[in-house]
Amino acid sequence: MAEYKNILVATDLGEDTTSILRQGIAIAGSGDVKLHLIHVIEPLSFAYGGDIPMDFSGIQEEIHQQASQQMLRVSEAYNIDAQRQYIVLGKPEVEIHVKAAELGADLIVVGSHGRHGLALLMGSTANGVLHGATCDVLAVRVGQDT
Ligand code: AMP
Repeated sequence: MAEYKNILVATDLGEDTTSILRQGIAIAGSGDVKLHLIHVIEPLSFAYGGDIPMDFSGIQEEIHQQASQQMLRVSEAYNIDAQRQYIVLGKPEVEIHVKAAELGADLIVVGSHGRHGLALLMGSTANGVLHGATCDVLAVRVGQDT
């Protein structure tokens, strides 16, 4: 296996975060490997902007604060450097690629639910990250719907 130096773990901050992060940490081992954690917040205006004429900034700020608190909890539990935690706004697969390029990441770790049927046809973040990635991608199998 390649020796990775810069690992970017993508998290939706949900219940699978621990299993995904543990895989990243296991691969990082104890050597001189940088482990980064990213969470992407999709702007509400992406989903509703055109349809509902209202100001989303208050709700968006609330979502950001909750994400920051959750990110802090995870990072403290797994000893992830504050400078290697990123919360960004945008479309998850796009922003994960952008951050991976910025960091010169050689491995991206994501969760994958192994969906089938309609959900598979509609795609997933893991698929989105895999397509167009310029480095290795590890899809960690998570969840019950396998
Ligand atoms: P999903 O396809 O939404 O079930 O997500 C699969 C995996 O993609 C998650 O386990 C995370 O690793 C990653 N992911 C999904 N949403 C986000 C997000 N908003 N920010 C960062 N990573 C995400």
